[in-house]
Amino acid sequence: MKSELIKHNFPKSEESFDVLNPANGKKVASLPKLSKADVKRTIKNAEKGFAKWRKTSVTERAKVLRKWHKLILQNKKELAKIMNAESGKLMAESLAEVEYAASFIDNSAEEALKVSDEIIANKRGGQGKVIKQPVGIVAAITPWNFPAAMITRKTAPALAVGCAVICKPASATPLTAIALLNLAYKAGIPKNVLQLVLGDAGMIADTLTENNKIRKLSFTGSTEIGKELYAKCAATMKRLTMELGGNAPFIVMEDADLNLAVEKAIASRFRFSGQTCICANRFLVHENIYDQFAKKFASKAKNLKLAPLINSKAVENVNRLMQEAVKDGAKLLCGGKFKDNHFEPTILRDVTPKMRIYNEEIFGPVATLIPFKAKAEVIKMANDTEYGLAGYIFSGNSKVAEEIAEKLEIGMIGINDNAVSSAYSPFGGFKHSGIGREGSHYGVAEYLEIKFIQNNS
Ligand code: NAP
Repeated sequence: MKSELIKHNFPKSEESFDVLNPANGKKVASLPKLSKADVKRTIKNAEKGFAKWRKTSVTERAKVLRKWHKLILQNKKELAKIMNAESGKLMAESLAEVEYAASFIDNSAEEALKVSDEIIANKRGGQGKVIKQPVGIVAAITPWNFPAAMITRKTAPALAVGCAVICKPASATPLTAIALLNLAYKAGIPKNVLQLVLGDAGMIADTLTENNKIRKLSFTGSTEIGKELYAKCAATMKRLTMELGGNAPFIVMEDADLNLAVEKAIASRFRFSGQTCICANRFLVHENIYDQFAKKFASKAKNLKLAPLINSKAVENVNRLMQEAVKDGAKLLCGGKFKDNHFEPTILRDVTPKMRIYNEEIFGPVATLIPFKAKAEVIKMANDTEYGLAGYIFSGNSKVAEEIAEKLEIGMIGINDNAVSSAYSPFGGFKHSGIGREGSHYGVAEYLEIKFIQNNS
């Protein structure tokens, strides 16, 4: 693929890897795999970068970040084309993601300007001061399903408060990250303050996590890898943000507006072919409207044009989950077939909690329908998972919906809505879905250390 935005200047390497277009299998680019020595050099560079960047004023940093934000929006189409080519994300969804990604930069600049120190009344005399300082050099490891937004959601708040960042994007989608960093440099962010490392994920993660100079790891990806990284960070006691997998319930109460619930169910389950962490996984529908909901949902879903899945391994995984469920008694209402990486929009009814598909993150365009009878039962079912990232409740009774929301062990809940993520609200999960929050002032606070100074002079 040809684009000025993806030109890069990595160290020479004997090993390389290919970036493929999931829609047609064609090679989009070939990139070098960095060595351990290269990664160590990157950390050394970051040390120099951090020493200077932390001393710049927050207004200066906000100015540069706002310039980056503007440049991203000016290059929106080019960035979306790069994203579309390497991730298969439809152009409309790619364009929306670029805007979403940019919003984290603008908002982090604004939130960093609001960070303030405190004077604490000290009962023992003297003056107590609380100041906030950048946590240090941050390692950011990101997934392929949001090639732009996961980069900005981590780098922008870190940079805004004076940290230096080393990003390791997913090997499937490094080009969007390269393009974003090139725009950041153009905006005035120094090259040793924001860097990229590519190649063997295990080696890179080991080199970053074992290094004491890296003071924080922010990871978005699978719960499995998140747990490995959590353990690896123990020896150097790093600060952590972990944005991991989900198994979101989508509850439809008997009094719900059915058309609205179906419309949002389509948006929630089939966005980027079901490859988002907050996609509704389990549709828990009241038994009195179950047949009606299933019929409407299937009639709308079957004609959707979806993006391809990221690779053949993902297709195999989704297909295996679906086939197993059918074998165990679930009924196929639509879809169920695939060609290359393209999986049809699929709806399964009469799924039960015993099936693997009920318990695992599907990460593909397969919706599972499960009936329920009572409010207490549906709350128990919704919480009956190790995950707790997102959840949705559709009901005509706002009070009942709020009551259910409060009882769910979940970080983000939409009531009569599927949009729970934005730069202005805290994003993150309970239980095995993660640690910490991104977005809003909560996301900025994750990159600050709190220091108390008692002055008795
Ligand atoms: P993944 O396999 O965990 O990979 C995520 C990142 O970790 C990639 O950069 C990957 O590098 C790297 N990685 C892979 N193996 C590693 C290892 N042994 N040590 C250290 N790093 C390693 O996840 P994914 O398939 O890219 O993304 C899908 C998952 O992300 C889903 O579970 C989804 O729910 C979750 N997700 C969560 C959120 C959230 O905010 N909670 C948002 C988006 C996605 P390579 O690409 O080079 O292998």
